[in-house]
This record gives sequence, structure tokens and C-alpha cells, in this order.
Amino acid sequence: MKQSMTGLVSLGLASVLLLAGCGKSDDVLVVGTNATFPPFEYVGGASGDEIQGFDIELAKQIAKDAGKTLKVENMNFDSLIVALNAGKIDFIASGMTITPERQASVDFSTPYYEATQLVLVNKDNTSINSIDDLKGKHIAVQLGSTGDIMAKTYSQKVTAFNTGFEAVMELKNNKVDLVLFDSEPAMSFLNKNPQLKMVELDFDAEFYGLAVPKGKTELLNSINATLTSMKSNGAYDALVTKYMK
Ligand code: GLN
Repeated sequence: MKQSMTGLVSLGLASVLLLAGCGKSDDVLVVGTNATFPPFEYVGGASGDEIQGFDIELAKQIAKDAGKTLKVENMNFDSLIVALNAGKIDFIASGMTITPERQASVDFSTPYYEATQLVLVNKDNTSINSIDDLKGKHIAVQLGSTGDIMAKTYSQKVTAFNTGFEAVMELKNNKVDLVLFDSEPAMSFLNKNPQLKMVELDFDAEFYGLAVPKGKTELLNSINATLTSMKSNGAYDALVTKYMK
């Protein structure tokens, strides 16, 4: 009798552990993001602490189409690829530009958004009119971003922050000459800071992709299928209208 009770208890425990394990891996899709990149991902909503944005809506649809629940993990931008390859997140949706360097460590979806870099300066600054004018300027960027990598090719005075918001604060305090950041979030910061203006220079186009660990073909295919169907059924255009003003 005693022995069979022990057996039952351990059987019960084993099934609880089994269920818990299944819940995580089978029913939940974890997306990693850096929610300081409006309108793609930011913290807001009625409660003030909800992660929202263009990328989050894409991620929700991807999870829905895969029959899973989406869980959002918010972290620093330069931690995302490490977290992905450590298995802490299943995919990245974070306005991440597809670059050959990143393609060496992750697989990207088909491009889902075209962007470029934009310069922000204080309104009284008339010294930047071409890419050449960036030489020797003190540039604030977001750590690990394409803006960060590009800025270092123009100037040795580059200060990198964990968020674009902090880079903009530094500019407002006149500690740097300019901020180099992706066009959409730069415009979103501009709308909130009337003392700043943007300068459009001749930067190349960048294309955002969603990233999965190398070789996760099944997940990548299902992400691409969702992107294709959202583009053909009007859902993608509806998101552009909702988030890009
Ligand atoms: N698109 C830029 C990059 O990939 C910035 C992305 C971001 O800061 N979320 O580096």
C-alpha cells in the first residue's frame, strides 16, 4: 500500500512537470524586442506598461497563425541576438535591419519595412548639410544599432546609449552635435521635441527583418507565410496607416 502511494505521487509529479514543460515549448511563442523604438515597439497603453507597436502586432499575428500565445520579452537592443541564440526567445521583432554581419548569426524573414537613417539636431544648428559634414562631429546613437556602426565611419566622437531616447536627451542638453537614428523613431522623437529638427542626408535604404535562430526553417517559413498573407489581405497596409503618420 505504502509503495503504491509513493508510485502514484511520483506519477502525479511527473505529469505535472511534463505539462509545465509542454506549456512553455508548445503553446507559447516568445518574441524579443526593445520597446524604446516607436512606432515599431514602445511601452504605452491604458495601463502605461503595455508593450505595443507595429512589430508587436506583426508578432501577435505570427503567433496566432501558428496557434500559439505570444509572450513579449523586453530587453536592450544589443542583447537580442545573444538571447535568441541562447534559446531565451524564439524570434526577434525589433526594427532590426538585415545586415550581412547579423546574417552570419541569425536567419532573417523576408524584408518587411524599408527605412533609412535620419539626423536630428537642435533647431539653431545649420552646420550639417551633407554626409561629409558629419566628419569629426560628436554623434549620439543607440548602442549596437546600424546608426552606431555608421557613425563610427564618419567620426571618432560617438557616444552610444541603450535607447534612442537617451541619445535625444543628450542632444537637447547640447552635449552632442547630432543624433543618428532610424527614420521612423527619429520622427516620433521629433514630434515630441519642437526644439529639434531633422536633416535628411543621402543615406542608403535599410530593410527590417524578423530574426530566428539559424536553421529554424519551420518557424521562419511560418513567419514568412504570415507576412505574405498580411501583405495580400490588407492587414499590413492597415498597420502602416495606424502607426506611421
Ligand atoms: N534598425 C536599426 C538596427 O537594426 C535600429 C533598430 C533598433 O534600435 N530597434 O540596428
